[in-house]
Amino acid sequence: MKHVIVIPDGAADAPQAALGGRTPFQAARTPALDALAARGRVGLTNHVPDSLPPGSEVACMSLMGYDPLRFFTGRAPLEAAAQGITLGPDDWAVRCNLVTIRGHDRGPVMEDFTAGHVTTEEATELLVACQRGLVAELPDLAGWEFRPGVSYRNLLIHRGRAGAVAPLADDIRATPPHDLMDKPVSDAFPRGFGSRLLADIMARSASWLADHPVNRARVARGLRPATHVWLWGVGRAPAFEPFTAKYGINGTMITAVDLLRGLAALAGWSRREVPGATGYLDTDYAAKGRAAIDELQTADLVCVHVEAPDEASHQGDAAAKVKAIEEIDAKIVAPIAAHLATLGGHRILVCPDHPTFLSTKTHSRGDVPFVMAGTGIAAGGRCTYDEVAAAAAGDAIMPGWKLMGTFLGKD
Ligand SMILES: [Zn+2]
Repeated sequence: MKHVIVIPDGAADAPQAALGGRTPFQAARTPALDALAARGRVGLTNHVPDSLPPGSEVACMSLMGYDPLRFFTGRAPLEAAAQGITLGPDDWAVRCNLVTIRGHDRGPVMEDFTAGHVTTEEATELLVACQRGLVAELPDLAGWEFRPGVSYRNLLIHRGRAGAVAPLADDIRATPPHDLMDKPVSDAFPRGFGSRLLADIMARSASWLADHPVNRARVARGLRPATHVWLWGVGRAPAFEPFTAKYGINGTMITAVDLLRGLAALAGWSRREVPGATGYLDTDYAAKGRAAIDELQTADLVCVHVEAPDEASHQGDAAAKVKAIEEIDAKIVAPIAAHLATLGGHRILVCPDHPTFLSTKTHSRGDVPFVMAGTGIAAGGRCTYDEVAAAAAGDAIMPGWKLMGTFLGKD
C-alpha cells in the first residue's frame, strides 16, 4: 500500500471580497482535487490545540500523526533536529535570531527581525563574537554554545548534565521577534524561570556586536547591522516515538522548510531535497511532484509540503494564493494521483496544516478542510474540495493528529 500526503501550507482561508465572496480554494480551478473529492472523503479537522501557538511546527506535527499537546516542546528543538544536532535529555535548544533593534522616541524598537537578511557567513562571524563575549562575561554559562544556521536563523544550545538543575523551564514564555516588528521591545523580553539568563545574554549581545567589523561593513554599505541576538522558541528534545514503530510504515518528507525537515528527522522519516524547491511562490512545483513519484518506489508514505500558499497569505495577495493552489493541483496532485492509479493499493490525503488568513496575513488556529481518496475509502457525495464543501459534508476528524490513523486505516 502506497500513501501520499500533500500539505498546502496555510491554504485554508475565509471568503474574500477580492474573490467575489469565495475562499481561495473555491476560487481556484482545481480539477485534480475535485476529482479526489468526488471519489473520496471530504471533511474538517483541526491541527492546532487552543493552548499552543498556531504555526506549521505545531500543525504539521499533528498532521504527521503526533499529538502536539504531548510532543510539542518548542520550535528550536525542531530546527536543531533539522540541522542534525542531537539533543540529549538534559539539553536545551533556543532559537537565536540576529536582529536589528534601534532606539526611537518610543524606546528601543524591533526594526528588523532578520537584521537585514544578514548572510550566513556574516552571521557565523557575529556568533563567534557572541560566543567569545559569553565565555568572557558569563563564565557560569559553560555548556552554552551559539550554533550558526542559515542567515538570521541560528540556535543557542545548552548541554546539560544529568542530575544538575535545569537552567530553563518548559513553560518559559518568549516572544517571536517577527511578532514585534516596529514595536518597542522593552516589555517583550522572556518571562518565566530562567528568563533572566536569556534576557541577560540578549542585553549583553549589544556590546558584543556593536563594533564588529561585519556590522561596520554592513552600515558602510547602507545595510542594517545585527545589533542583538533575540532568544525564543525554547525547548528540550521532544520524545517522538519513531513513525515506523507507531504506524508500521516508513516515510519520506519533501519540503523546503527547516521546521518540516526537523519533524521528519524526529519521526525517523527520510528526506528528499528537491533542487528548485524554494519555500516561496516561485518554487518548482513540478519538480516536487516528480520527486514524490520517484520516492514512491521505496517509501510507503511520501509527504509533499508546499509553503507557497502560506507565503501568499503573508503578503495578503489573494490572486497569488489562488495561483499557488492551482499550481499544486496541476503539477503535484494531478500527476501523483495519475501515478497512484497505476499502482496497486494506494491512498492520497490533501490537508493544509492551519489557516493563514489573507485578511490578517498571519497564521491562525481553526478548522481546515481535508480530502482523502484511494483504496477502501468510500465516496462521501461531495464533488468539490474547499472549506464550504468540507463543512457541509458533516464529516469531522478531531483532534487533527488522529487524521493520520484514519488515513492509514489504523484507527
Ligand atoms: Zn504552516
